[in-house]
Amino acid sequence: MSNTIRTLEEIQKIDLDVLAIEAIGKDEKRITSIKNTKELNAVTKEMNAANKSKRQNEQEKANYASKLEEKRSALGALEDAIKARRARLEELAAELESRRPVWKQSVDEKARLRDSIKAGLRPDVFRKYENIRAKRGGVGLALIKDETCQGCHINIPPQVYIELRKGSEEIYTCPHCHRILYVENQDQPETV
Ligand SMILES: [Zn+2]
Repeated sequence: MSNTIRTLEEIQKIDLDVLAIEAIGKDEKRITSIKNTKELNAVTKEMNAANKSKRQNEQEKANYASKLEEKRSALGALEDAIKARRARLEELAAELESRRPVWKQSVDEKARLRDSIKAGLRPDVFRKYENIRAKRGGVGLALIKDETCQGCHINIPPQVYIELRKGSEEIYTCPHCHRILYVENQDQPETV
């Protein structure tokens, strides 16, 4: 074998080695590329999932915020209504308070008038009136109408009505509620 051939063989060997190495390199590159794609896909998937979850969270947050805002607004409306009512209540209380002296004056005047009228009454009749009034819800007198006591709506003996119409000074009381009975003034027409 010539030296030339031997040398060429050596070169050929080296060339083949280089090719083999390059092939391995290409494979590695390919593998790396595949690996990278897979990893990229995985990362992309993860990122997508994370983004989706983030969007969902944001949506939920927005929903909660909107609901919270609704509640807050409703609460605000209620508070306003309460404030308005409280203000009206205070207004009414002030109005009542301002009227009190007028009422007091009116009541005092009526008490004085009552005392002066009472003087012209037989004391036993007045006592009777006061007793019945105390027991019968503040009303001591009852009108007779259609032969019926208007205090308790029980029939009155016709004779009592006749006597009272005549202008009798006698005191007649209702047999049921015991109120002192009276009839409409004879000079005035009876109201129907
Ligand atoms: Zn009666």
